[in-house]
Amino acid sequence: MSEQTIFHKIIAGEIPCEMVYETDEVLGFNDIHPKAPTHVLFVAKREEDFVPSIMDLTDETAHVPCKLIHAAQEFAKEKGIDGYKLTFHCGAKGGQEVFYLHLHFMSQQEL
Ligand code: 5GP
Repeated sequence: MSEQTIFHKIIAGEIPCEMVYETDEVLGFNDIHPKAPTHVLFVAKREEDFVPSIMDLTDETAHVPCKLIHAAQEFAKEKGIDGYKLTFHCGAKGGQEVFYLHLHFMSQQEL
């Protein structure tokens, strides 16, 4: 089994989060230290979709970032947010702190 990160625990419900989006495959929750009026993190929930970082993608997991981007786009449409920034921090030298692939969604618009 892969090393458990804080996001594994959030997905398992062992650590609380402010959930703002959920499907069978993707969870979206507010960043604990928001850097914009809306700052949501999107993660893939299924164990087979787990990948630590963009830098670890393989042929088997290359679809995962697209799932997260699609979830972010659906979330924005649902909430009527018409401008936002999507970011992946890639590796420690790219500013990544949690090694569970996640997409940052930031908007100046409030939820
Ligand atoms: P990274 O730098 O790895 O791309 O981003 C990790 C993000 O996770 C940071 O923006 C940080 O504020 C957020 N974060 C870290 N721990 C927690 C937590 O326990 N709950 C939530 N909601 N966000 C967290």
